[in-house]
Amino acid sequence: MQDSKLLSIILPSYNEQDNIPHTFEVINNILTSASIPYEIIFVDDGSRDLTYQRIYEVSLQHPQVKGICFSRNFGKEAAIFAGLEASAGACCLIMDCDLQHPAELIPEMYRLWLEGNEVIEGIKSSRGKENPLHTFCAKSFYNIISRATGIDMSKASDFKLLDRKAVDALLAMPERAPFFRALSSWIGFKTISVPFDVQKREIGTSKWSPRKLIKYAIHNITSFSGAPLQFVTLLGWIMFLCSIVLGIQSLYRYFTGTALEGFTTVILLQLIIGSILMISLGIIGHYISRIYDEIKARPRYLVSRKCGF
Ligand code: UDP
Ligand code: MG
Repeated sequence: MQDSKLLSIILPSYNEQDNIPHTFEVINNILTSASIPYEIIFVDDGSRDLTYQRIYEVSLQHPQVKGICFSRNFGKEAAIFAGLEASAGACCLIMDCDLQHPAELIPEMYRLWLEGNEVIEGIKSSRGKENPLHTFCAKSFYNIISRATGIDMSKASDFKLLDRKAVDALLAMPERAPFFRALSSWIGFKTISVPFDVQKREIGTSKWSPRKLIKYAIHNITSFSGAPLQFVTLLGWIMFLCSIVLGIQSLYRYFTGTALEGFTTVILLQLIIGSILMISLGIIGHYISRIYDEIKARPRYLVSRKCGF
């Protein structure tokens, strides 16, 4: 039975055992006092701690809480899509389960949805406490991806409320490696932004190591844009222009009889061309591996257990 006013809240959780009961309490209090009908779907992304146990316990006491447990860590995007697929609501809200996305905003976002908006996106008005290197890398990543996609993503977050129409549009995408943050802008629909301040993480630590973040960045840039391939072409043209200049110079020397020198130039050229070729092959190889991944058409995630459904 689909409730025409039901709000599904999707919370990807990875090693968040201490956050689950607390997050539920906070959301429950806010939504009950705003009398919004809701369900909560916790997606345990293959945690190694007691996250699923906690979800299960909460779901026993509260029928509006549901839990999905992955067979291993499939990543946040997969968890978001699993939640969307399992949701029954007329609209779905995605938020972090560490409450860095302020739950106090939910009634406001819900009201905007009732007014007829289809995508209500949380926009980071500040990034919260982060180390400067992280901020710099995040900025560069979003610059590249904004330029590549033509969507301004510098303040984008995963904190979004989507109408059922938008959810269905997202779920209809066959991509194996979806990038939620960009796709949910790409689909369009009547969109409105709600600024929010990223809160401090109260319990636990960030689940992203620098290595995981770099992988995430490369993965999402290449899944959303072919710009790095055009970069290869650009490099080719630059090398071609250099070769014209050098070619003319060499011919001139040959005919004036001053050739034979220039051993250093030869070595340097070899090195430069060699490295550019290798980088280009690497970029192309990356895309081939992405095609390979897509063509295998493996499921985005595997579920090992469910509760509350
Ligand atoms: N998360 C996840 N799978 C992962 C990593 C993170 O589901 O592989 C979840 C995590 O539990 C949290 C949200 O994604 O609810 C954001 O992660 P985190 O707070 O660690 O990231 P940060 O806020 O530092 O960007
Ligand atoms: Mg967080």
